[in-house]
Amino acid sequence: MIDLHTHTDHSDGTCRPGELLQLAAEAGLDALAITDHDTFTGYEEAAALPCPEGLRLIRGIEITCKNHRENVHLLAYFPLREPTPRFREWLQTIHAGRQDRNLRLIQRLRELGLDLQLQEVEALGRHMTGRPHFARLVVAKGYASDAEDAFRRYLGESAAGFVERRGPSLLEVLAMVREAGGISSLAHPVRLGVDDEDTFIAGLAAAGLNAIEAYHPDHSLKDTERYLRIAERCGLGVTGGSDFHGSAKRRGLGSVQVDSKYLSFLLNFPE
Ligand code: AMP
Ligand code: FE
Ligand code: FE
Ligand code: ZN
Repeated sequence: MIDLHTHTDHSDGTCRPGELLQLAAEAGLDALAITDHDTFTGYEEAAALPCPEGLRLIRGIEITCKNHRENVHLLAYFPLREPTPRFREWLQTIHAGRQDRNLRLIQRLRELGLDLQLQEVEALGRHMTGRPHFARLVVAKGYASDAEDAFRRYLGESAAGFVERRGPSLLEVLAMVREAGGISSLAHPVRLGVDDEDTFIAGLAAAGLNAIEAYHPDHSLKDTERYLRIAERCGLGVTGGSDFHGSAKRRGLGSVQVDSKYLSFLLNFPE
């Protein structure tokens, strides 16, 4: 089995990269992809450590893209080659958009009467400070009972504190991943909320999408079967994983059963 969707404490997970390697070895996985939100630093910390025998570690990333007003998550994998310097520079523009949003979000929350400092939330976020870190601070300071409550009251899209974040469009991200030599996969497509998912995914395939994440904890068996069929029809590869976030979400590493046969899609991806 393999797990191609995991987060470390470099984004919104709670486990250190080395702990993920250990958990992957204990789960008997053949391959583990680390796909932190908008950053490679978690993968890079893990890659510098001795890899448990029999485990293949894969560089990945999960990028938040805009599709009209909706946020779409795109996974990108770099199993055999490094992303280009241009791609890394482009990631910096995503980080700048995040920092700008975080500043405005702190100001907004302070206007709403919450006594929060940017340094406090950045201390939780380390390399990639996002709303999940804001949620932890809001809860720690007693302004909400748990993360869900923090999103409902302050951070979610229909909450009082919500501020927009600049971000790249889905088509821009597809083009950047392709140019950088990466392999793209549409994350948890069940969350898309589009009227006609067949047409939508076929359109993305034509725009350069390489795969879809058919296996994900949000997917029912029926969903997975439907995405496997769509992938076949659109000539797309298949990926899957547990979207592990440590104790931040109750999902075990390797808890979604993804056959190791899907690894060969990543490793034999055409030039
Ligand atoms: P950001 O990219 O910093 O805007 O944060 C987005 C992340 O916040 C998502 O990947 C989710 O993990 C989390 N998130 C967004 N909305 C909610 C919600 N309503 N409840 C809990 N977590 C959420
Ligand atoms: Fe996340
Ligand atoms: Fe996601
Ligand atoms: Zn994820």
